[in-house]
Amino acid sequence: MSVELLGFNIDDYTFEDAVVKAKSLIDSTKVSQIITINPEMIQEAEKNNKFSNIIKEAEMVIPDGIGIQLGLKITGKNVQRIPGIDFAKRMLYEASKNDIPAAIIGAKEEVITKAIENLQKEINGLNIVYFHNGYFSDDNIIMEELKAKAPKLILVALGSPKQEEFIYKAKTKLKPALMIGIGGSLDVWSGNVKRAPKIFQKLGLEWLYRTLAQPSRFKRIFPALPLFLIKVLNYKDKI
Ligand code: UDP
Repeated sequence: MSVELLGFNIDDYTFEDAVVKAKSLIDSTKVSQIITINPEMIQEAEKNNKFSNIIKEAEMVIPDGIGIQLGLKITGKNVQRIPGIDFAKRMLYEASKNDIPAAIIGAKEEVITKAIENLQKEINGLNIVYFHNGYFSDDNIIMEELKAKAPKLILVALGSPKQEEFIYKAKTKLKPALMIGIGGSLDVWSGNVKRAPKIFQKLGLEWLYRTLAQPSRFKRIFPALPLFLIKVLNYKDKI
């Protein structure tokens, strides 16, 4: 089932149902794309047609943060937040349990190597068959290397919309796999960026913690949420 927000369909799974659905996509016969959506991405999609279509064609669109949850709430729809970083980690656990080869792409070289080291310590039997940092100029080379290793779960951390565009391109290039855009997750898994304390996570205020901890983000993110909610309200009045 999905719900609509500003013209985009967002899946309203529980965390566990989303895991079940994602596992079925790993077993499907094509490359599938999961987008963990936030208000900034919807705002980007409004001026970027290509990105808008990518979201519309994605096999799963899950509500990453409080912004999307609030936006849906004011239009009378309730969904559970599914933090992309937790969901992606869970999928790595599922991969290791089921002997599924995984790959990770993105972030700076020292960040991805440290993140993988930490993940392999944490997740028993995790099989990473390919990884590459996120600063490459020719994505065809990465596609070729990925194709040769045939991972079934591929996490891509290039920031948005770059990661979604990369995954979309991979749909026509790779063997069947599930691909998820994971934003800044590698920075957290490497230990370079701290996650918000549990209480902020519980209240859905990770974004507030992050913007306060990193003032350069504050100017960009803080006004975005109220503006986004005003847009949702206006859109709602129009229909
Ligand atoms: N990143 C990357 N290649 C790029 C741009 C970004 O690998 O060309 C990585 C960056 O190192 C970080 C992640 O993408 O680990 C998320 O980047 P950013 O914080 O800019 O994205 P946001 O979370 O703001 O969408």
